[in-house]
Amino acid sequence: MQIPFHRPYITEDEINEVVDSLKKGWITMGYKTVEFENRFKEYIGSKNAVAVNSCTAGLHLALRAIGLKEGDEVIVPTITFVATAEVVNYFKAKPVLVDVEKDTHLIDASKIEEKITPKTKAIIPVHYSGQPADMDEILEIAKKYNLFVIEDAAHSLPAWYKGRIVGIIGDITAFSFYATKTLATGEGGMITTDNDEWAEKIRILRLHGISKDAWKRYSKEGSWEYDVLDNGYKYNMTDINAALGLAQLKKLHWMWEERVRIADAYNHAFKEYEELIPYIVKSDRVSSWHLYPLKLNLEALKISRNQFIEELKSRGIGTSIHFIPLYRFSYYKDQGYDKNYPNSEWIFEKVLSLPIFPGMTQQEVNYIIENVIDIVNKNKR
Ligand SMILES: *Cc1c(COP(=O)(O)O)cnc(C)c1O
Repeated sequence: MQIPFHRPYITEDEINEVVDSLKKGWITMGYKTVEFENRFKEYIGSKNAVAVNSCTAGLHLALRAIGLKEGDEVIVPTITFVATAEVVNYFKAKPVLVDVEKDTHLIDASKIEEKITPKTKAIIPVHYSGQPADMDEILEIAKKYNLFVIEDAAHSLPAWYKGRIVGIIGDITAFSFYATKTLATGEGGMITTDNDEWAEKIRILRLHGISKDAWKRYSKEGSWEYDVLDNGYKYNMTDINAALGLAQLKKLHWMWEERVRIADAYNHAFKEYEELIPYIVKSDRVSSWHLYPLKLNLEALKISRNQFIEELKSRGIGTSIHFIPLYRFSYYKDQGYDKNYPNSEWIFEKVLSLPIFPGMTQQEVNYIIENVIDIVNKNKR
């Protein structure tokens, strides 16, 4: 059997929406993008939703909205995709790394305060694998030091923290619709915020700083005239991507239930093996289960994490690693970042991500479980 790490869930619904966009003759930002923003805003319950062409663009614009400046500092976790820190560097500001917790891989809120300086402007918590970070603690620290909280919600659509959905908790939230994410439009992102001023600023910046509703210029009620209010970017979503988003949003809840079903099966099957370290979701939150991270108890096994991955690959099972800690990359080493993050190192040598996506058959889930257990049994120390 061959099971890739990810398979997008595309059906006739997505195809029909895209064809509709093509037939309407409007393929860049327009009707479908506005409709997608409205549906998304309803789903999350936020006051504003602004569509962009990636979560990275969304995080960049969020930092523009709060007025990040050269020389400022922004707190980010060590274990995340590089985009979380990259956007801080765009401003010649400094990403300040904070170690993560061993069992959740979330930013360790108890280690944030010691990294705060007079230059600190914001915290970007990452809801790793779909589990919301410790938002109460983070918001309290932010309040105490007058910092903004911008959530990297690339993994967490949908996810709940103490009963509240991610997207209405911090100051600004950025979602990703990249090909492998829980709602996929190929490339795409969405920013939610309850602050109308920021939303308007982000809306203007995403399309060259042009005065609002620029796309309406070409519609019946529009005119040729426009102004440039700021130095903006080419970060708008297209209607082709929004068409995919509209179709995916309708089945988002079902797709989430599918991932929960798979995560439950893995959790149940692996819990009796001391060679495997379970990923913990805290009892007051609900994960989107974008990822299923599994850690190996290397003291109880004769093989390394990399050998384990090769073994799974030879049996046709695709895996991935989330993530190489940021300080391990050449660029960050050259900037003087050290390796002094014991929990991140501890996780990184043990962790791998198993396939988890809607449409995985029970046969496929069972095949993965049987093979993980077989590799464990054959390699006990
Ligand atoms: C995927 C991802 C991003 C970037 O999303 P894009 O839409 O590809 O820009 C940011 N942060 C995390 C944690 C991610 O996994």
